[in-house]
Amino acid sequence: MELKLYNTWSRKSEPVYASDHEQLRFYCCGPTVYGPAHIGNFRTFIMQDLLRRVVEGIGIPTRHIRNITDVDDKTIRGSQAEERTLGEFTSHWRQVFERDCESLNLLPPHVAPSAVEHIPEQIEMIKGLISRNLAYISDEGSVYFRISAFENYGRLAGLNPDELKTNADQRLNDADEYEKEGVNDFALWKAWKPEDGENQWDSPWGPGRPGWHIECSAMSCKYLGHSFDLHSGGVDLIFPHHENEIAQSEGYSGEKFVRHWFHVAHLRIEGDKMSKSLGNLYTLKDIEGWGFTGQELRYVLLSGHYRQPLNFTRDSLSAAKSGLNRITKVASAIGVKAATHDYKYGRFAPVMEALCDDLNTAKALGALFTVVGEIEQELKVGQAVDATGLAGILDVFGFKFSDEPEADILAPAGVLVLAEERLQARMDKNWVRSDELRDEIADQGWIIKDSKAGFELEPVK
Ligand code: AMP
Ligand code: ZN
Repeated sequence: MELKLYNTWSRKSEPVYASDHEQLRFYCCGPTVYGPAHIGNFRTFIMQDLLRRVVEGIGIPTRHIRNITDVDDKTIRGSQAEERTLGEFTSHWRQVFERDCESLNLLPPHVAPSAVEHIPEQIEMIKGLISRNLAYISDEGSVYFRISAFENYGRLAGLNPDELKTNADQRLNDADEYEKEGVNDFALWKAWKPEDGENQWDSPWGPGRPGWHIECSAMSCKYLGHSFDLHSGGVDLIFPHHENEIAQSEGYSGEKFVRHWFHVAHLRIEGDKMSKSLGNLYTLKDIEGWGFTGQELRYVLLSGHYRQPLNFTRDSLSAAKSGLNRITKVASAIGVKAATHDYKYGRFAPVMEALCDDLNTAKALGALFTVVGEIEQELKVGQAVDATGLAGILDVFGFKFSDEPEADILAPAGVLVLAEERLQARMDKNWVRSDELRDEIADQGWIIKDSKAGFELEPVK
């Protein structure tokens, strides 16, 4: 199988492959650790995790790098407001992020480098850009990238030079911009200002700190080389962040930076943009406070195609709960105890094919439930079930259920069949039959209770 994925650079779907024939080397822009990540951030991180699982699921090993942004205006201001050092402040939020990732069953990246731990690498790259005349030092000791010296600037975002100029005209009055040659030139190094307090590092241009864009160019180069397979982030990063990364990296190495650009459209909340002022920057903690799990949020965030904005609603979490319950019940009834890595997809091959078609998750979930429905039917009539591929496909979706409490107390297939029959009887309002079935289920050692998802079974104690 081959994965085709839309490439922002070429504006068409293209195969994803490892150019070194060994592993797909890819870089994801990581979180800025100044507070909890919101569920919009997690849409992007989950899609990147799905991409990795699909690539590994078709037999290509990966090398996945995701950075931690732990020095910028937001982290500095946040640490000052709490009177903590930058390191204390960011390591707290980094831990919260990592805990959230675990609940959402995100595979940890192979390396998660932090910007603060890579200042020398960033300085080295800036020196190289100055020596190639692609960057200049301002009077106050900041360093800027000279975009007029980089021929392809704007190519990723599809901006032509005129548009860039218009963009620039709007910013001409910005007082902070006076020391730059060109208004779109961006900072590689920011000279120390009193409001930065103790947060300063030495450099050949005086004390200061790196700009945001240079960290990703320096760290991707260190861990993946000058040229690698794929780079990813939310659509808001296309311009200027990724455009600037291309200019820095290609300006520095003279090689093609990245072949495939993968961008995820934004999450919206009940029809609105996510924003502080609307108070809808929900976090995983909020979702758990409403009685839902990381797995259920993961399901919701996977349910729409990544190139379309996804509208989040609370109802979608309830739908996710029942969808996941159905999967868990079927898996347990046929003795699949955990999602495991496997390349055999059996009757689930159409699910994998949908995922390989530009990560069409909506179609893939539809295909998954078609097979789940077939299996439910087979269990009901007591037919033998071919479950080849179920564990593998659940691993590709990243649905973890082995250690969920429900999975431990799941009833055997025979009891499940009776429970389904009772559910049907209740839907038919056949209360006599429903009661008979409840007694039969009790005879087999199980108590049945009605629930939103249909029913729940508990062993008699
Ligand atoms: P940040 O921590 O702000 O640097 O963002 C981390 C990641 O989340 C980046 O890839 C952003 O592009 C992405 N992102 C930010 N807001 C949203 C959103 N509403 N929906 C999806 N992704 C987002
Ligand atoms: Zn980045």
